Amino acid sequence: MAAVSHQNSAIDVTSIPEAPKAKIATPPSKVIKQYKPQGQWTLHRLASSSEFLCLQCNKRKKAKLIAIRHNQWDDLCCNACYGLKLSKAK
Ligand SMILES: [Zn+2]
Repeated sequence: MAAVSHQNSAIDVTSIPEAPKAKIATPPSKVIKQYKPQGQWTLHRLASSSEFLCLQCNKRKKAKLIAIRHNQWDDLCCNACYGLKLSKAK
């Protein structure tokens, strides 16, 4: 007689699929001050001057003041461009 094999159809809930790791950009240096957001932009003061690429003027900058858009550290803006934006916004 053929034994009826027991089919285990239970879903294994212990294996949680790993969420894809989003690459989160971080500040190039320690943020010591965060200014009030102005529109999409938030200005930050870093503990030390850091090199970064301003995506507004496309220039490499070295500064303590860096503005970021939408709180994302992959969309950086130098203090000069940030100032221009604020003056244009008025
Ligand atoms: Zn700039």
